[in-house]
Amino acid sequence: MFSNTQPNLQATNNLTQLDHLDLVTILEASPNGIYLVDAETLKVEYANPTALKQLGYPLEELQQMTPLNINAELTNQEQLQELIAPLMQGEVTQINFETTHRCRDGTLLPIELYLQLINQGNQSKFFAIAVDISQRKDIEKSLDNTVHQLKTIADHIPGIIYQNYHFSDGTIQIKYINGRVEEILGRSADKFYADISYFLDLIHEADRANFLETIQQTIPKLHSFFWEGRLITPSNQMIWIQIRAEPQLRSDGIIVTNGVLLDITAQKKAELALKENETIFRQFAENLDDILWMVDLDMTQLIYVSPAYEKIWGDSPDKLKNNPSRFLEKIHPEDQSYVEQAISKPITQKQEIVYRIIRPDGEIRWLRDRAFPIPNEKGETYRIAGIAQDITKKRRYQQEISHYRQLRDVIFNEATDALFLIDPDTLKILDCNKSAVQLLKAPSKADLRYKTATCVTPYYYEIKTACEQQGGWHQELSLSTMDGNQFWGDLAWQNIQVAETNYYLVRITDITANKSFEEELKQTNDRLEATNQELEKATRLKDEFLANMSHELKTPLNAILGLSEALKEGKGSQISDREKRAIENINVSANHLLSLINDILDLAKMQTGKVTLDFTETSIQSLCETSLMFVRQQANEKQIELTTHINTDCDTLNIDEFRIRQVLINLLTNAVKFTPEGGQVTLTVNEDQSREHIIFSVSDTGIGIPSDQLEHIFEPFYQLDGKLNRNYAGTGLGLPLVRRLIELHEGNITVESQPQQGSTFYVKLPYSQVCLISSDTSGIASRLYSQQGNNLSTAPLVLLASADHAQIDSNRSYLEACGYQVISVTQIEELPTVLTEFSPHVIVIDIETLELEAEKIIEEIQQGIPILMMNATNTHHCCNEFSNVYCLKKPIRLRYLRNEIQNLLPEEFQS
Ligand code: ADP
Repeated sequence: MFSNTQPNLQATNNLTQLDHLDLVTILEASPNGIYLVDAETLKVEYANPTALKQLGYPLEELQQMTPLNINAELTNQEQLQELIAPLMQGEVTQINFETTHRCRDGTLLPIELYLQLINQGNQSKFFAIAVDISQRKDIEKSLDNTVHQLKTIADHIPGIIYQNYHFSDGTIQIKYINGRVEEILGRSADKFYADISYFLDLIHEADRANFLETIQQTIPKLHSFFWEGRLITPSNQMIWIQIRAEPQLRSDGIIVTNGVLLDITAQKKAELALKENETIFRQFAENLDDILWMVDLDMTQLIYVSPAYEKIWGDSPDKLKNNPSRFLEKIHPEDQSYVEQAISKPITQKQEIVYRIIRPDGEIRWLRDRAFPIPNEKGETYRIAGIAQDITKKRRYQQEISHYRQLRDVIFNEATDALFLIDPDTLKILDCNKSAVQLLKAPSKADLRYKTATCVTPYYYEIKTACEQQGGWHQELSLSTMDGNQFWGDLAWQNIQVAETNYYLVRITDITANKSFEEELKQTNDRLEATNQELEKATRLKDEFLANMSHELKTPLNAILGLSEALKEGKGSQISDREKRAIENINVSANHLLSLINDILDLAKMQTGKVTLDFTETSIQSLCETSLMFVRQQANEKQIELTTHINTDCDTLNIDEFRIRQVLINLLTNAVKFTPEGGQVTLTVNEDQSREHIIFSVSDTGIGIPSDQLEHIFEPFYQLDGKLNRNYAGTGLGLPLVRRLIELHEGNITVESQPQQGSTFYVKLPYSQVCLISSDTSGIASRLYSQQGNNLSTAPLVLLASADHAQIDSNRSYLEACGYQVISVTQIEELPTVLTEFSPHVIVIDIETLELEAEKIIEEIQQGIPILMMNATNTHHCCNEFSNVYCLKKPIRLRYLRNEIQNLLPEEFQS
């Protein structure tokens, strides 16, 4: 307010140089009020027009006034004296201060007063300039108001406003901080003004270095400062803060930063919660089988699509992100326009579309896509989100269900049986089919529906119990239609469960026609039964008659045969050639008649069950040889080659040898008979893989049998028609006999044949039943032992050596029947081995069949055992050379052989 500067003094000096008029003109023109006040009286001597205008007094009136009258702030003389004292005492040359003038109309005028003391000789005057500062005051006032308002705002904004000075030495000083600091950071502003490091201490330890680094990287470079981090408040609360500041470099090198610090704890928490929600959402979305998607409003930007998209569409989500309309390309052509239409309209509410897509692998999938709008804060739709679900399986399932439902309806309605669906609780008919309406002669379905099921069965409570206990019930019974007519029904009740609900499904089949048919059938069967019995009786009588008659026929026939033979042989010379041919004719015809009668007799016996089999152990080899023997002569005559193949491990059979030989002879005779000259007939024995059967097959290269005749050839008297057949003699009884004999052995016979190629007859006998010894148990000793039975040591032991199986078989059978034990060899080389194992009492050797020189054999078996040597002649030099060798001339009757053996046995067997 006081100043010792000299400008005004200089102005005074200059003034003195101006003339009075010029001075007055200047004073009068001054835009400020100018006063001259007598320093002694303090009365206003002069006031320029501006001063008069400012105060509103005329000069005359003003010249009567002192500053005390004008100044509104001076209340007494002392105050005025005190004010001017420094001037008066020459301490200062000028004072200036702000004060207020009171105008004539009482209004107050703020002014800045410049006061100087002017000495004019011994007179002193005050020269005062009053600058109207009312405008400035108004501005100041409004500024104050603004500042106040700003302060209020600053104090009320939800953050801390501050100003910092960053000095070039790195120190920082807080210049301003608003009142919110206490509220947010828990300490008053003074604390921070005093030391900024207090703020640094509040920063979370883990974030502090980052804070300082951020400052370093921004403020010195005058970059905007932005930092978010944690603080631990004095009350030990962790809060999140965000600071933004703008640095400005002042001319003095200080960087001033004006910044705002916000407490963003709530926001951060919300952010974290959002993040957590987002993680949950992502996990959820990414594990969901359905596709979640979100696009912007015009569908040009795909904001999100869940990974299920790849699984369902077989396409990469990235490709879709790059080109969201790509999904349209994959839509089934038939659904494309429908989908395009649906998405072209603005989606204002939830909407659903179902469409098909074609995956890259060609598979077609059905999708249900639900889209809904997403509004922004203003409630305007700005995005579209949706969920697409793969409903292929569901749809297929639905189609299947509807298919089966239709199928069921068709089956139910079109079934020829009457069907009813019955409520198990009320026993009312819930549904029935067309046939039910027709069968019960109901006027319509409605007449049956919701009626109790009495018309279905008269005693349903009994049925209900049976259904509950056994799950169903079934019976044939007489039922009545709605119009009271009786019919036969096959009635079946069945418990069924449909969608966890129990029902009875009742079926009635109209069996009225069946019943009468059954009745007829029964009567026919009864008649047939009676006829059969009569027929059987007649057949038996016929067979018995045949058997008797055949016997009666055979006796005279034998006489005819015997006599014709006798005539042929005895009186050949006395009869003429014609008579000879006649006798020959009689003989041939009688022979044919005899074989016919024999066959008839045999067959008749078999039919009447009079044939019993005589099972004996039979060597396969000898069986085959003896059978072939019978046909050999015929075969030779026709130059037919006879062959045998025995391919089985089984050696010996338990069969009726005579009968099976009869079978083989029959088949072989037919084979030779029906095979043209130069053909082949083969007898093969083998077994099937599973050893179920031993199989004898007789095959030929003959005329064969047409396939349509094959089933008849086993019928009695059946012979093939045709020219060829007439060329072959026969009775037509051979094969029926054969079949019967095989059946008696529990076997069977089959035939394969090709006309002009040949035929093969297979005789199959049960392996396990007929095969006695298998060469599996190899070794001569074991085979021989098997032949001995169990009483080897007690019975005399005879060793037969012959290459003729048939001879061995017949000899053995006879000798065994006579109580001997028999062992045999068919090859002479086996003899030494056998003799090391066994000690026969007598050895019988057929020297001819073994085709060996007698001496060699005798020498080898020189053990003193008596040897009967069978020979074509009665003498042999061996018989003289060796004392234990006796010769027998072939043929040898069995009884004779037995006597010879008996004579050679040791004494203990002679009794
Ligand atoms: P037959 O005494 O006439 O041979 P069968 O009962 O033995 O009587 O045979 C019946 C018929 O079966 C024969 O007449 C013949 O027509 C036919 N037949 C049997 N075996 C053969 C065969 N090996 N080749 C061709 N035809 C055969």
